Amino acid sequence: MKLKVACVQINPKIGNVEANIKKVQQMLSKLQGVDIVMLPEFAITGYNFPDRKALEPYLELTTSGRSTQLAKEILTKHECFTLIGYPEKDKERDYNIYNSAVLTAPNGSVLYNYRKTFLYDTDVAFGCQENPDKEFTPLRLVLDKEYYLNKQPNKEYPAVTTNFGICMDLNPYQFTAPFNKFEMSLACFANKATLILCPMAWLSSKSPSISESGDKTHQSEMYEQKFFSHNNVPAYNLEAMSRDNYSNQLVEQHELQDKPFVPQNPDYSTINYWILRFFPFLNHPNNQLAKYYKSVTVVACNRVGIESDVLYGGSSAIFQFSDSPGNYEIDNRNPSVVVRGCLGQGEEGVLMREIDIDVSASS
Ligand code: GLN
Repeated sequence: MKLKVACVQINPKIGNVEANIKKVQQMLSKLQGVDIVMLPEFAITGYNFPDRKALEPYLELTTSGRSTQLAKEILTKHECFTLIGYPEKDKERDYNIYNSAVLTAPNGSVLYNYRKTFLYDTDVAFGCQENPDKEFTPLRLVLDKEYYLNKQPNKEYPAVTTNFGICMDLNPYQFTAPFNKFEMSLACFANKATLILCPMAWLSSKSPSISESGDKTHQSEMYEQKFFSHNNVPAYNLEAMSRDNYSNQLVEQHELQDKPFVPQNPDYSTINYWILRFFPFLNHPNNQLAKYYKSVTVVACNRVGIESDVLYGGSSAIFQFSDSPGNYEIDNRNPSVVVRGCLGQGEEGVLMREIDIDVSASS
């Protein structure tokens, strides 16, 4: 089934919720016919809060929070599904904190609330809890909007097995589990998922916070002033490019050493790392798993910008694995994965693609 998926890659200003919301709405106002809108992890609050006290004013209850409300505002114009990452408190008092993403249906109802399973240092710093369900349990998601807006009695609506992952979920647990345990992607494979949605606040490999040399404050100021202090016009990447040109370009870029930070260029090493973390889906001589699908779609919606010394890596991407023959490559040069489109590493923008979602595998 064909579906128009849009990723909103923003640079939220930490704590500046209403201004961030306005920006999201402006960026979405140019879109037409979108079916799923995705926003990053902690999309309208910003992410790098130093501790629980700093995060406290921005915590939201799932059903009444500002993020869910924004999702409802989005659908009054677009009648779409919305997935948005936000800081969750599970009740008004004596609550736990989760790093969550809420999925709303085209009629505004809350369909699902996913809680991040593997935590990053930042989540630990603000006292976040791990998802009590450690299994990456999937959602059976009916994608036909009619089901929500005008359900026909006696009509069968196929459901797509959908998994969610928030940023660190793609990594080995606490960076200490064996790399080839592939916890999240193997769970998705075992679930027979064909749609995998990942809101991200993924760091740039150039983030001063993880750099081993130099003055972090100085580097951070440089990035802020040079790339993020102006009000740049958002990029709109709404059209598919020819597959061959596109992957050649990716390979070339990937092979360049010491690439400078060019906001408009995707960080191909990040996209290829995400692809590698989905190794169970690659057709590769070392992968003996029997494929259950024609295609599996992964949508990674990241953010950009800098918060204190943390630089985020953008490069939001939509990629699909297929059952076509592969080769020895473990990145976008493997023909069993196709990158349908991506955004730059330091630009705000919208990536939209019409994607064929495989419903046959999961219904
Ligand atoms: N490991 C991820 C990164 O390096 C985790 C960040 C996150 O969970 N937000 O970007």
